[in-house]
Amino acid sequence: MLLRRDLLRMLGLSAALPSLAAAARAVDVAETRRPVVISTWTFGEAANAAAWDVLADGGAALDAVEAGARVPEADPDNHSVGLGGYPDRDGRVTLDASIMDHAGNLGAVACLEDVVHAVSVARRVMEKTPHVLLVGEGALGFALAEGFPRQNLLTPAAEHAWREWLQTARYAPQPNIERSNRYSLPDALPGGERNHDTIGILALDRGGHLAGACTTSGMAFKLHGRVGDSPISGAGLFVDGEVGAASATGVGEECLRVCGSHTVVELMRQGRSPEQACREAVERIARRHRTPRKDLQMAFVALSADGRHGGYSLQPGFAYAVRTSAGTRQVEAPSLT
Ligand code: ASP
Repeated sequence: MLLRRDLLRMLGLSAALPSLAAAARAVDVAETRRPVVISTWTFGEAANAAAWDVLADGGAALDAVEAGARVPEADPDNHSVGLGGYPDRDGRVTLDASIMDHAGNLGAVACLEDVVHAVSVARRVMEKTPHVLLVGEGALGFALAEGFPRQNLLTPAAEHAWREWLQTARYAPQPNIERSNRYSLPDALPGGERNHDTIGILALDRGGHLAGACTTSGMAFKLHGRVGDSPISGAGLFVDGEVGAASATGVGEECLRVCGSHTVVELMRQGRSPEQACREAVERIARRHRTPRKDLQMAFVALSADGRHGGYSLQPGFAYAVRTSAGTRQVEAPSLT
């Protein structure tokens, strides 16, 4: 019978190394964490499914996050992303999106009209231009020159909501709180229909590369020209291939003030777990307000380079979707209040 020490000798290993069984377990743990994809909100589950098709085939995280983000962009019933997104106060649907890979390559578009897949335009900015961010008319012109089809993004449902809003024309972001059956909330909580959200999607592929994307139509009924956190590097999205990735959803102005996603990644670099890092970024936002703001939601998700994930929100009711080889699930993130 082959003794363990003989086996180790044959393999050129020292008996002082951990047992083979323990080493195998460690490998298993690492492998089950790769690939992995996480996305903000319960609608992230459908995005994750598209991303998983790429990852499970050994595809790149960058391709996976783009494929995932395109799902809610094309969904006319999702009123905070892409087609069917609620318009600004002038009735114009304007999209913000960004995409970033493990090596720090980054592309973004802001205030883009008439093109549904803002995330793919952002990727094209990253890959085909010397720039990082294109806005408004320039972003549209670039997208059309690249062959993206032009399309009206204002659906009848979104137009109806906008016309109703015009009757009061009061800008009042509702806290975006998950209202699926799984996370139903007490009636006492404020907020009518949610009027802003973002899909932030982060993936780690089999080869160990991270990437992230986020895309949104921003705050419903915002001033024309308003840009949120989603297309701004380090605010709505940040990826560092050696540390981790983070993305944000909530009132973009709050996130912009603290460079939220960059903060989360830097805290992970200093040793915080993804959840702790998200919590500290949320706390930084909360500290700016003397009295707790029930009307404000801000949440982060994070994925570390070794495949751990976490999320944290200001108000209860934020969930994110996770897909690994173990299947798909929703995680209700802890919150500050
Ligand atoms: N962060 C987005 C924005 O401010 C909206 C959201 O995620 O709820 O445009």
